[in-house]
Amino acid sequence: MLGTGLATGLKIPADSYSKESKPIILSTWNHGLRANEVAWDIIKKNGKAIDAVEAGVRETEADPKVSSVGLGGAPDRDGKVTLDACIMNELGDAGAVAFLQNILHPISLARKVMEDTPHVMLVGLGAEKFAYEKGFKKTELLTAKAKLAYEEWLKTSKYKPIINIENHDTIGQIALDKHQHFSGACTTSGLSYKMSGRVGDSPIIGAGLFVDPEYGAATATGLGEKVMKTLGSFLIVELMRQGASPQEACEEGIKRIMKQANNKLDFQIGYIAIDKNGHHGAAAVHKGFQYAITQEGVHELRDAKIMAG
Ligand code: ASP
Repeated sequence: MLGTGLATGLKIPADSYSKESKPIILSTWNHGLRANEVAWDIIKKNGKAIDAVEAGVRETEADPKVSSVGLGGAPDRDGKVTLDACIMNELGDAGAVAFLQNILHPISLARKVMEDTPHVMLVGLGAEKFAYEKGFKKTELLTAKAKLAYEEWLKTSKYKPIINIENHDTIGQIALDKHQHFSGACTTSGLSYKMSGRVGDSPIIGAGLFVDPEYGAATATGLGEKVMKTLGSFLIVELMRQGASPQEACEEGIKRIMKQANNKLDFQIGYIAIDKNGHHGAAAVHKGFQYAITQEGVHELRDAKIMAG
C-alpha cells in the first residue's frame, strides 16, 4: 500500500472563498435529516467536512429501515445486496467502491481507497478483499424484511424502476465546514432487483457526486443510468464554476436529462448542490424529492423545485 502522497497536491487559494460563508449540509431524501444531525455534530465542533459526511452517511448505511442503502437494502435479482459508494474531500481527492457485497460501510471503504491506495475505484471481490485487509468485518446485509419483499417480487419478477418508491433512495450528502472546505459522500444499494453486476451513478465520480475544492459540490439520486449519461454532478459544479447559482445549476442539470429523454419522463432524478458562498440549490424531475438542509444547527426537510409539468 502506498499510504501517502496520493492527494492531488492542490492548494486551495485562501481568497477564493467568501469569508462570510456559514457551514451548510445538504442530504438527499428524508433519511438525510438524521445523517445531517450526525454530520452537524462534527462540523459544529470545528470538525472537518470529510469526517462529517462519512459519519453522516454511515448512519444511513447502518439503518435497516432504509431499503435503498447499506444494511436492509433491496437485493439484486439474484437475491444479493450489492453496494456502491464514493467520497470526495476538500482537495478533490476521490475514492469509490462498486458492486461490493458483505460490507456494512462502503463509504468508509471508499475513503480507505482514497487515502490508502493509488487508485480511485475498487469493485466486487477486489473491493471486498481490500475491506478485509483493512479490518472490515463480513456482514450479512440482507435483512429478513428485504428477503421477504424479494421473495414476493420473484413471483412476477417484473422489473421497472418506480418513481420515488417509498420516498427514500440513495443518500448523497455534501457539506461546507467552518474551515470553508467542501466534501461529499454518496452511498446506495442501487436499484431494487437490478441485474447482477449493475452499477449506477452513485459510485461514479462526476455522476453521483462531485466536489470542486474552490467552487462547490453536488450529488444526485434517482435513476442512475440517466445521471451517468450527462455526468450530472460534474455538470452542476462546472456550471457553478462558470457563474451559475446552485439553484440554476441544478435546474439546468435536470433539463439536460429531460431533453435527452425526449420528454419520456417515466423516471425520477433529484440533484442538490452547494457553492462557496454557502448558497444551495435543489431540483428534481417530478414532485416527491425532498432534501435535508442544515444551517446554523437547524435541520429542515424541504421540497426540491420540480422541473416537469
Ligand atoms: N442513483 C441510484 C442508482 O441508480 C439509485 C437512487 O438514487 O435511487 O443506483
